[in-house]
Amino acid sequence: MSLPVSMGRLTAESAVSRAFLVKTRGRIMALIVKKFGGSSVATTEKILNVAKRVLGEKKPGDKIVMVVSAMGDTTDDLIALAEGITKNPYQYTREMDMLLTTGEQQSIALLAMAFKTLGHPAVSLTGPMAGMKTNSVHTKGRIVDITPDRVHEELDKGNIVVVAGFQGADAFGNPVTLGRGGSDTSAVALAGALKADTCEIYTDVDGVYSADPRIVKGARKMKEITYHEMLEMARLGAGVMQPRSVEMGEYFHIPIHVRSTFTTTPGTIIREDYTMEDKDFVIRGVAHDEKVAKIAVLGIPNTPGIAHEIFSALADANIDVDMIVQSIRNIEKNVTDMVFTVAASDLAEAKKVVDGVADKLNAVAVLIEEDVAKVSIVGAGMLGNPGTASRMFGALSKVGINIDIISTSEISISCLVKGSQLKEAVNAIHDEFFPNK
Ligand code: ADP
Ligand code: ASP
Ligand code: MG
Repeated sequence: MSLPVSMGRLTAESAVSRAFLVKTRGRIMALIVKKFGGSSVATTEKILNVAKRVLGEKKPGDKIVMVVSAMGDTTDDLIALAEGITKNPYQYTREMDMLLTTGEQQSIALLAMAFKTLGHPAVSLTGPMAGMKTNSVHTKGRIVDITPDRVHEELDKGNIVVVAGFQGADAFGNPVTLGRGGSDTSAVALAGALKADTCEIYTDVDGVYSADPRIVKGARKMKEITYHEMLEMARLGAGVMQPRSVEMGEYFHIPIHVRSTFTTTPGTIIREDYTMEDKDFVIRGVAHDEKVAKIAVLGIPNTPGIAHEIFSALADANIDVDMIVQSIRNIEKNVTDMVFTVAASDLAEAKKVVDGVADKLNAVAVLIEEDVAKVSIVGAGMLGNPGTASRMFGALSKVGINIDIISTSEISISCLVKGSQLKEAVNAIHDEFFPNK
């Protein structure tokens, strides 16, 4: 695969080896990165429980790096706070990053205190202190390099090192966040840079399921899933892992263990290939994304360069476009409609950009639809199974759900449906491919 980022001086060394087993006096020590998500550290009681569990499971000599998210809904609360100042705070992306990074700063301080209170030395480090270097794309930053010297120093002093997820700093020292769910990426990237033995992602579910277990009651837990399929699930909305974190895992050859904060049952291993499970499934899972919005630019000239004009303007504003349909509106007048989806969080910015281009192109209208959602099936097995798409569409038609837009990749098929019908759509498709035994 192409490298997810320019990892600067880490590249060659880290990509080939992740073993960091150090023998001292005949004992093997391990370096373990453990990431705890927001719901796992939502209260001070939960933070203390996390510290107790980690100390209870720690073998003598193990080096532990913790990566933590902000407590509970703190990030959402901070966004709401900014909305008290302005309707669209994301127009001030640098200030948003200044604000959002405070969430993780609270949880690292509290968790480090929890370890100390329980008798183990610990130190908290912000993302920049841990050497997380990013580009300057505020609120959607990407890690460009990691120089974790300070982390090594603190580990060598015997500390448990508690690192703030979701954040780094650009070349000018500005705080930059890595997009929602970005602590996963901080953890996996740090594990790669430290050449950790294991990266464990602790969360409020006990693994990766064939669909979001909150939506589909009969969803099945996977023992393993490949990076490739997990990346597609995540990209299509399975919020249990941020897509970039899966790319990082593949890049560094780090197996990622997704497991529960609240139980000790083994979770799901994200890795190169299957080792245990039957590979003979057609689809691996159903993903959904309700945080999408549809934009339709109606009545634009059907001439070369128009698509480029619209989508390059969006790209310049760092807005990802997802499903795209161009249809003939009026052959005689040679005008067309361009319909596409963007992340709901980008809608306000995208509308501004598209309105500007639409004016220039003399478009008839720009329409926005927010009650839309995307449901997708994912699986490397569907490549050789031509009937898979029709089974998906059939499952939706059986429950009377209309498909608005369809898009496909090598290992996925996605349908845009009404947002209000999403839950029913996900369940209908899941039942089709994973019938109750
Ligand atoms: P954290 O705060 O620990 O990062 P997240 O809320 O980001 O937790 O991710 C965990 C959530 O991901 C689960 O509560 C679950 O609702 C959701 N999820 C979506 N798709 C899946 C899936 N296929 N398997 C497991 N969980 C999923
Ligand atoms: N706190 C950030 C968020 O809510 C990052 C994370 O939890 O991974 O998106
Ligand atoms: Mg998360």
